[in-house]
Amino acid sequence: MFKIAENIYLVKSKLGFTYCNCILVEDKVRAIIDTGADYETLLKINPETIDLVLYTHHHYDHTRGHKLFHHAHSLIHKADYPATLSLEAYEKYNSIDIWDDLMPNVTREEGIMALNILPSEELLCPIDNIFIDKDVFNLGDTEVQVIHTPGHSAGHSAFYFPKEDFLFTGDICLTAAGPWYGELLSDPDDMINSINKIIELNPRIIASCHVNEVFEDSSAKLEEFKNRIYKRDERIYNFLKNEPADIHKMADNKLIYKFHPSPFVVFWEKLMLIKHIERLEKMGVVAKTDKNLYIAK
Ligand SMILES: [Zn+2]
Ligand SMILES: [Zn+2]
Repeated sequence: MFKIAENIYLVKSKLGFTYCNCILVEDKVRAIIDTGADYETLLKINPETIDLVLYTHHHYDHTRGHKLFHHAHSLIHKADYPATLSLEAYEKYNSIDIWDDLMPNVTREEGIMALNILPSEELLCPIDNIFIDKDVFNLGDTEVQVIHTPGHSAGHSAFYFPKEDFLFTGDICLTAAGPWYGELLSDPDDMINSINKIIELNPRIIASCHVNEVFEDSSAKLEEFKNRIYKRDERIYNFLKNEPADIHKMADNKLIYKFHPSPFVVFWEKLMLIKHIERLEKMGVVAKTDKNLYIAK
């Protein structure tokens, strides 16, 4: 655990993705933001005496420890809440229902196995209540405010501690692979706006769910992270300028991710290519031919 401020700790997961780092608040109300750290690490913080669980969003790498927090009241943003209600909803939100169309050569089961996650019924995480943007939770001496930051998912939220001027940015993750916006309601435009919102807030310290570091003066880092979205636009546009292509051919050329170590990365590449194509079509610089290929104008 890394102490960020009086009462606030970054709980570092010993296992990387599909696990995540969490924030622990040790105050009159014991609270945790996300429950995706490895079980051994979570057990050390006495999960049974945690009163409040707040979620940055509904993805499994953030909720997988949920059942350890028996006595806690749990909340998530209202736009992510529907994804937690059934397995069908979870799969639809995460675009798993279109796996077979996008991944004709790999079964969904092979893909899920490669991702090292538990059987499908374990994906579900029953949440007690919802929050919305600007909601504030008083935990004793510590106060935390919801900053709605959609893009990664529709309800993705960051958490701001005004007294400490600290922001937990969730899956605005600042990893080398991000930003990610591959699910049904993900939106690269929203991601850009959310990153701008954080830059404007200009918190003194930030931490995220998938980096084991805490950053000060993060605005240049956030700008660079945001600019990757424009660079991806450019790579896709330039590729389509040379030859019309469908999603599969574009993915083969690794326009989003340099490496495709597992079928899920190929799947995400395709989902994110679809988001970029929608964006470029809206800008009027890419169009679809009658042979279902995309061309740059
Ligand atoms: Zn996520
Ligand atoms: Zn994550």
